[in-house]
Amino acid sequence: MLLEVRNLSVYYYTLSGVVKGAENVSFNMDSGEWVTFVGESGSGKSTVAHAVMNLVPSPGKIISGEVIFEGRNILGLRSEDLREIRGKDITMIFQDPMTSLDPLRTIGDQMIEAMKVHGVSDREAMKRAKELLERVNLPEDRLEYYPHQLSGGQRQRVSIAIAMAFRPKLLIADEPTTALDVIVQDSIMDLLDDMKAEGTSIYFVTHDISLAVERSDRIAVMYAGKLVEIGTVEQIVENPLHPYTKALIDAVPDLWSERPVRAIPGYPPDLREPPSGCRFHPRCPLAAEGLCDVEEPELVEVEKWHLAACHFPGGVKNE
Ligand code: SF4
Repeated sequence: MLLEVRNLSVYYYTLSGVVKGAENVSFNMDSGEWVTFVGESGSGKSTVAHAVMNLVPSPGKIISGEVIFEGRNILGLRSEDLREIRGKDITMIFQDPMTSLDPLRTIGDQMIEAMKVHGVSDREAMKRAKELLERVNLPEDRLEYYPHQLSGGQRQRVSIAIAMAFRPKLLIADEPTTALDVIVQDSIMDLLDDMKAEGTSIYFVTHDISLAVERSDRIAVMYAGKLVEIGTVEQIVENPLHPYTKALIDAVPDLWSERPVRAIPGYPPDLREPPSGCRFHPRCPLAAEGLCDVEEPELVEVEKWHLAACHFPGGVKNE
C-alpha cells in the first residue's frame, strides 16, 4: 500500500465560524493507481489533497487523523523529512500553475532550483530540465521565458515537467485542467497518463465526473466534507450506490442520447453548520425522516472494493 489516509479531519477557523472542510476521511491508494476525487465546490476533495501533503492553507488546520505514506505518518514528520519527500516522492500540481511558479524568475531557473533542492548538480539539473521540457512537448528555449510569456496550457506543462523530475511515487493533481480548453485539457491528461505508465500514482481532483471515467482506476465521491462513495470506475458508473453519485452522473450531458440532463436540486450546505445525520439529506430524493436526518451513515463496504455511506445504498430501502 502506498498511501493510507485514516480518519482525516480538517477545519478552517474563519472569522465567521469553524468550517468543517473534511471530516473522518479514510481511503487507501496502491502504487501506480489513479484515483479521482469528484464533488461540487466545497466538498472537501482539494482540502484532503492538501492535507495529504501536510500543506493545508491558513486558516485551515488538520485536527485529527493520519496520512501514512510508505509506512510513515506524513503528519508527524519533522519539517526536514517532509522537505525530502515533497517535490520528490510526492508532488503536486494546481489548477492555476502561477500558484507554484514564481512570476519573477525564468522557467529554467525554477526547474533547476527544484532539482538542486534534492541534491542534483547544476550541470545535471540543466541537462534534465531540457529533457523534461522535451517530454512535455515544449521547446528548449522556453527555459529562458518567464511564466507570463507562456499560455495557461504551457505553464501547466512546465508544472508537470517539474513534477516529473524525480519520477514521484504520488502526484496530486488539483483540478489541473479546469482552466484549460478541451484540446489542451486532453494533452495534459495524456501527460498524467504517461506518468502513471511509469509507476506514479495519481490523486486527481475534478468536479467533472466525465473526466474521471476515462482515465481512473477508482473514483472517490465527496460531499460536504465527507467521503460518501468509492469504487472502481465500472462500479461507480454502472451501479452508483449513493444518491449523490447518481445525481452527479445524471448531471453530465450526453450528446448521443435523449436522456435529460438533471441538475442537482438545492445547494451544498454551509459547513459551519452542516446538516444533522446524513449531510445530503436536505437534497436527497430518498431521505427517510427520522433516520437520514438523525443518524449519520457510515462508509461501509457494500460489495468488494465498493464502499458507500448511505442508509439505502443503491436506493434499496430495507424497511
Ligand atoms: Fe439519502 Fe438517506 Fe442515503 Fe443520505 S443516507 S444519501 S439522505 S438515502
